[in-house]
This record gives sequence, structure tokens and C-alpha cells, in this order.
Amino acid sequence: MKQLAILGSTGSIGKQALDVVSKHNDEYEVQLLTANDNWQELVRQARQFAPDAVVIANEAHYAALKDALADKPVKVYAGSDAINQCAAAKPVDIVLNAIVGFAGLTPTINAIKAGKVVALANKESLVVAGELVNRLVAMHNAAIIPVDSEHSAIFQCLSGEVGNEVEKIILTASGGPFRLTPAEQLARVTKDDALRHPVWSMGAKITIDSATMMNKGFEVIEAKWLFGVPVEDIEVVVHPQSLVHSMVQFADGAVKAQLGMPDMRIPIQYALSYPDRIPTDCERLDFTRHGTLTFERPDTDKFRNLGLAYEAMRRGGNIPCALNAANEVAVHAFLHDRIGFMAMSDLLEEVLAKTRHIASPTLEDYMETDRMTRIMTQELIR
Ligand code: NDP
Repeated sequence: MKQLAILGSTGSIGKQALDVVSKHNDEYEVQLLTANDNWQELVRQARQFAPDAVVIANEAHYAALKDALADKPVKVYAGSDAINQCAAAKPVDIVLNAIVGFAGLTPTINAIKAGKVVALANKESLVVAGELVNRLVAMHNAAIIPVDSEHSAIFQCLSGEVGNEVEKIILTASGGPFRLTPAEQLARVTKDDALRHPVWSMGAKITIDSATMMNKGFEVIEAKWLFGVPVEDIEVVVHPQSLVHSMVQFADGAVKAQLGMPDMRIPIQYALSYPDRIPTDCERLDFTRHGTLTFERPDTDKFRNLGLAYEAMRRGGNIPCALNAANEVAVHAFLHDRIGFMAMSDLLEEVLAKTRHIASPTLEDYMETDRMTRIMTQELIR
């Protein structure tokens, strides 16, 4: 039995991971579940999956959580440090990091330092500090298995190709809800429009990132660190059907693609079962029903965030970390009706222009860049 820690178990990825576990309770045992605020859902999950421990990041909910689980033999903790410690604890084999945002970075680092296998949904860990994370993986003999469907696809395409030169990675993108919206109308779109993703049902932050194509920009950075391919060799192609999850082109011109229905439970399960494949009851891809697969170039004039991600990666060092921090603040402001859709990209451009470059950041430099960038972005919003 593989022993799992599921960080962010109350979110979209976390719940789907628990769905996978519930269908394979002969393969997986849950050691740890964590949430930020949603202690009620954490209680429900703890009752169903009987983990060794639960952690609520927001300490204000500790008493309520502890009380609600008083009749169960589950350890109850609160605070971010407790998440880090429990994720690194002995019996855990795989840490699935499904926390959203910068808050996922230190749990990733702590799990790696403890030599765990990290099933990584929290792409922000690599966007912010990919170089450091990779160094730690090598140092501590840990491993990262991607959960993001695109990166899971690339990971699968690269299987059996050790030593073979990759010419380019082709990351597919659904195009989001505004693919066909004329640029001049984007200033007027609302958060409800942006939250209506045509294919995927996900947490609010990544759904907005998909609407601005920031998500695809972050995925370019994530792919660079996961697969060691320069960003110039990572091409984004819009594929609205979201059936081809990504592709790899090799030195001989051959292209391998991974396809399947858009269902996150498949890449989540693969990250947990790797290198094995185990059955799912997920819907199968019927080519005769879907018929046409289309591909188009992304419109980087309309979706400036995609270009900003390439620029941040070219500048390197702490700049992607600043981009991530500014984006988290901008998305939060958009979701609270404080700024419009286009203002998100304006803010990111301004922040990137003002950020002091640090070429080889330490973890403390990343922490400080994140802190200072949040303050700067808040001030620009005011
Ligand atoms: P959700 O917002 O649905 O869930 C986020 C989870 O993280 C919740 O359990 C939340 O707890 C917890 N959390 C939030 N803030 C903190 C914090 N400060 N400290 C500790 N825990 C926290 O996000 P998603 O599941 O959509 O996404 C999670 C990650 O996976 C993101 O990095 C995203 O980019 C990535 N991803 C998501 C995909 C998807 O289909 N959803 C696809 C590919 C990647 P609470 O519920 O209490 O707020």
C-alpha cells in the first residue's frame, strides 16, 4: 500500500485525488489531509478516509476542527509549519501537493528534503523557484511526478526516450473562455464570464489564469524545469477540443502525443500509480464521435500574460517569482471586483519593469521577492 499525504485535499485537485483513492483503497492509504479554511470539508474527509493526521493552515479554525473530530483517533494540527512537518513525516511515500499558489512552495521543498516522491499539482513551486527545487531534488534523491495534464502528457511521451534529443515540446492550450472574444471586448468581461471555462472545472485562481493564458505561461516555465528544455523550444498551440494533452517532437522529426478525455483524475492517478497503470472508470476517448482536432497559434497581443511568462523566464532569477506574486494579487483583486480583466496584464507589466533582478536567488530571496512584490502590486492597485 502506498502511503499518501494530500495537501490541499479540499480543493478541486484534492477532491479528485480522494475520488481516485476511494476507487483504489487496496492500493492507497491516506496518512495526511490538509486545508486552509474549509475545516468542515476536512472533517468530512477525515471521517471517510481515516488519516493519521489532518492540518488546517488557518489556525483560527483549529478549535472547531479539533472539536468536530474529538471522537476519532486522528491527530489534529494547525498552521503552515505543521503542514511542512507532517508532509515530511516517516510513513508518507507520496506527497500530492494540490495547494494553490506560493503557499505550496515550502511544502514542496520540505517533502523533497525528506526524500519523498512529490506528485506536483502546485505548478507555482516550479514557477517561483524551479532552479532551487531541481537542485534539492538531485541532492535529496527525491522525485517529482507532474500532475498537470499537459506535463503528465509530456512525461508519458518522454518515457523510453532517455538519451534521445528533444527538438521541441508542444504544449496544448484550450484557449480558455475568451478565445473567440474580440480583443476590444475583453476590457468589459466580468469575473463570472472568466470563471466559465469551456472544458475544465477547476479552482477559481487557475480558472482566471486560464482565461488570461497566464496558466499556459506558467506551464511553459513548469515544463522548462521539469524536462530541462529551454523556453525557446517550448511552443504553445491552442487546441480547443483539449483531447491532445501535449506533444514532444524529437530530433528525427517524429512527434509523440498523449491523448485522452479531459479528466484530471487520469493524470492524478498516473502520478500516484507511476510507473504502473491501473484501471479507471473514466470515460474513454471515442475518435469517431469527436472527429476533428484543430490547432491554432495563440494570440499573444490579446493574451499578453503568455508573452510576459516567456520574458520573465528569459530574465530568469527572481523575475518569475515576482510575476507569480503580482499575478496572485491581481487575480485576487479581479475576483473581488477591484480591477478589470485587462488591468491584470497592465499590473504585471508594470511590476516586472520595476522588479530588481537577482540572478541566483536563495530561498530567502524568493520569500522576500514574493513579499515585496505583493506590497508593490497592492500599492499599484490603490
Ligand atoms: P483550489 O482552489 O480548488 O484548492 C486549493 C487547495 O489549497 C484547497 O484545499 C485550499 O484549502 C488549499 N489552500 C489554499 N490556500 C492555502 C494556504 N495558504 N495554505 C495551505 N493550503 C491552502 O485549487 P485547485 O485544486 O484548482 O488547484 C490546486 C493546484 O493545482 C494549483 O497550483 C493549480 O494551478 C494546480 N492545478 C489544478 C488543476 C485543476 O484542474 N484544478 C489542473 C492542473 C493544475 P481551502 O479549501 O480550505 O481553501
